[in-house]
Amino acid sequence: YALPLDEVGGPVIRAVKGCVFAECQPTPLKEPLTLAAVSQDVLRNILDLNESVIQNEEFVLCVSGGKLFPGSIPLAHRYGGHQFGYWAGQLGDGRVHLLGEYANRKGERWELQLKGSGKTPYSRSGDGRAVIRSSVREFLCSEAMHFLGVPTSRALSLVVSEEPVWRDQFYNANSAFCLARSWFRIGSLEILTRTGELDVLRTLLDFIIKEYFKSIAMNDPDKYVVFFSRVVNETAHLIALWMSVGFAHGVCNTDNFSLLSVTIDYGPFGFMESYDPNFVPNTSDDEGRYSIGAQANVGLFNLQKLLEALKPLLTPDQLSQFHELFKAKLGFLGNQEKDSYVIAFLLKLMEDTGADFTMTFRQLSEVTLSQLQTGSFPPSMWALSDLLSHEYFRDWVQLYLKRLSRMKSDSDAARQDRMQGVNPRYVLRNWMAESAIRKAEKNDFSEVALLQKTLTEPFVEQEAAERAGYSSKPPSWAQQLRVSCSS
Ligand code: AMP
Ligand code: MG
Ligand code: MG
Repeated sequence: YALPLDEVGGPVIRAVKGCVFAECQPTPLKEPLTLAAVSQDVLRNILDLNESVIQNEEFVLCVSGGKLFPGSIPLAHRYGGHQFGYWAGQLGDGRVHLLGEYANRKGERWELQLKGSGKTPYSRSGDGRAVIRSSVREFLCSEAMHFLGVPTSRALSLVVSEEPVWRDQFYNANSAFCLARSWFRIGSLEILTRTGELDVLRTLLDFIIKEYFKSIAMNDPDKYVVFFSRVVNETAHLIALWMSVGFAHGVCNTDNFSLLSVTIDYGPFGFMESYDPNFVPNTSDDEGRYSIGAQANVGLFNLQKLLEALKPLLTPDQLSQFHELFKAKLGFLGNQEKDSYVIAFLLKLMEDTGADFTMTFRQLSEVTLSQLQTGSFPPSMWALSDLLSHEYFRDWVQLYLKRLSRMKSDSDAARQDRMQGVNPRYVLRNWMAESAIRKAEKNDFSEVALLQKTLTEPFVEQEAAERAGYSSKPPSWAQQLRVSCSS
């Protein structure tokens, strides 16, 4: 279902029907090009390439649209979506080209995507380009999420050009080379149902199930129901993971929700600092539709839209998965009647005191129970010290200690160990990204590199990261930072 090149583009830009992809060529970035960042993990462990490959002059061209891989037929994907609650019609890859699929040594298959690679039949009024600020954020955050254990698209590289791109001012154009098991999203199916292209819908859905949901039998009469419940579970799990690391996606439209339940399309995302369920990372989101605390509900809305495109049964188990992850963050084993209460109680204290989300849980994993009992924290435990000011914190501590003491064979060291494995010490905070971006805009990519390295081991204390203040209280200028959709 790919449309030949001569039937798309030009004045009929939005009139594409009866297809899933359109063939179209990337527009190479103007030289000179700078390879601004590379993920060694993607290079080695996904693409089976040796580090030295980046010295090859052709590498930069290949990852920025200047040279195609042999046999590659670049495609732009046609999809639609619900944006901020309303059906937006056809959207599609407006600045992305799919370059093909790579099957690696481990037997995994990855779809290669170039972002910022120029106009496609789905660009509408856009220029098809990406600017450095948004790409640095996407590059860093998708890699960071991977190392936090959150399913995500990946990023291989970032190439910067001097080609000017107009936003609120001129910026340098750049392109990011990204990978995902699949880039299909809820909107990939919605567009076909909405326009009544049911044959194409069935063909695409069968293809997706066959390719990516191998455990579903193609001759199972309930295969679409099974598919749907699989996506429901995986999406709930993904959102619970987002919540557990304090991540707000920012633009949870159905065109940005993957059918394989991986995090895709990093735009105005944010990591929550002060614990605040109303945290909204996107300045364009006036009503806070995509606030961090609303994500589970928004996920449900999106799944209902998927259901409208498919029609089977829905039994989401979001709440209980959410609950399990928070139990792990507090070091609880087994089930106790009051667990939900202990979790909710702490979250309420955090909300009241504005205690830092990430570091509260991290410091609870590092504190000893006797320190907790006496409330005598070392100065480095700034998030716990913020909580201490709450009149009910001592009550919560008593509940918490009592709950832990019920696990008879557990030791404090074992508890700390368990909790440190699920509570990251480093998350990509906006101020950290901003600081790296400011340097990157002056061609200094050292902090991008430091952040990238730090975030490959978010659960492990690292000297360079500590020196950079990545686990310290955020600087005061960080509070004024907002990120918008167009950035
Ligand atoms: P997003 O908000 O990033 O999910 O994008 C929504 C839609 O706008 C998608 O169809 C994108 O491909 C398209 N889009 C975003 N930026 C551009 C751009 N600079 N040029 C063309 N299309 C774009
Ligand atoms: Mg998108
Ligand atoms: Mg985007």
